[in-house]
Amino acid sequence: MTDYAPSSGGGGPATVDLRSDTVTKPTAAMLAAIAAAKVGDDVFGDDPTVNALQERVAALLGKEAALFMSSGTQSNLCGLLAHCGRGDEYIVGQLAHTYRYEGGGAAVLGSIQPQPLPNQPDGTLKLEDIAAAIKPDDPHFARTRLLALENTWNGNVLPATYVADACELAHARGLATHLDGARLFNAAVASGRTVAELARHFDSVSICFSKGLGAPVGSMLVGSKALIARAHRVRKMVGGGLRQVGLLAAAADHALTHHIERLADDHALARRLADGLAALPGVTVTPPQTNIVFAQVSEGRGPALLEHLKSRGVLATGLIGLRFVTHLDVDAAGIDHALGAAREFLTKG
Ligand SMILES: *Cc1c(COP(=O)(O)O)cnc(C)c1O
Repeated sequence: MTDYAPSSGGGGPATVDLRSDTVTKPTAAMLAAIAAAKVGDDVFGDDPTVNALQERVAALLGKEAALFMSSGTQSNLCGLLAHCGRGDEYIVGQLAHTYRYEGGGAAVLGSIQPQPLPNQPDGTLKLEDIAAAIKPDDPHFARTRLLALENTWNGNVLPATYVADACELAHARGLATHLDGARLFNAAVASGRTVAELARHFDSVSICFSKGLGAPVGSMLVGSKALIARAHRVRKMVGGGLRQVGLLAAAADHALTHHIERLADDHALARRLADGLAALPGVTVTPPQTNIVFAQVSEGRGPALLEHLKSRGVLATGLIGLRFVTHLDVDAAGIDHALGAAREFLTKG
């Protein structure tokens, strides 16, 4: 049995780190793939590994072209700036990553005005809200150019009919559509649909290799050749032109080959954690669709529970609503250890 304690690495006691699926370390096989990568200077277009990965991902998502990005934030930013110019507007969820957690980059760097709309509990934006937010062509208004959605959203898979309807509405009104698909592979595995199906209605999609897929670095923006050409210029502008990036592309390529189907394991562990937590006194759990578990702890005991978990080597985030994320570097024993630590705290009154 693993000895869990509040430290990590260095061969010491293990930590069950449920703060995010970004905390994974490359596997030995992934490191071997990195070491074997053929590389070149990608600013000259010479890196064969990243070129192959871009083709692979474009084909996987059913789009013409793809471009490697340093992060999901950079990918979304390049996408937004490729769609919108100065004084244009994009419609986005009030709680969307793109709007809320990316430093306001689209406004700061692109002079693009966000038009945030309330996210419904499942992550959707009401169609009537979208329709009402699209501005007429009138000098009073910013030009509404783009609808941006997110899938998964807080671990929820957006309903397929909703995605089709929202994108149809946007396109009918002359808007382009962008999907922040940082966890699109989780959505695909959970819904039994391909990422191409999930990407189909969007003009651009951003995916991340460094979330559930378990690569150390990297994201990719996909779309038409023309859009990707514009995004390429923006990527250069924001310092995202990398040189021997095949080292990172090799890790991402390895993740695509070996780490997609296993996302189902992460989802099963999230359910195991959710079921275990739901059985404890004073906890309300939202049943997870993918790898993110939200739990409400009564009487403001959330922060104290987090402290207790930490003292037992279990890391999570949140305040009133706690968030636990499963990933490649967590196993059933780790989840059971986390549950044992939570039980210890919640049943002692
Ligand atoms: C993580 C994440 C991103 C991008 O994050 P980076 O840390 O910049 O790679 C974008 N959108 C969502 C929904 C995310 O979860």
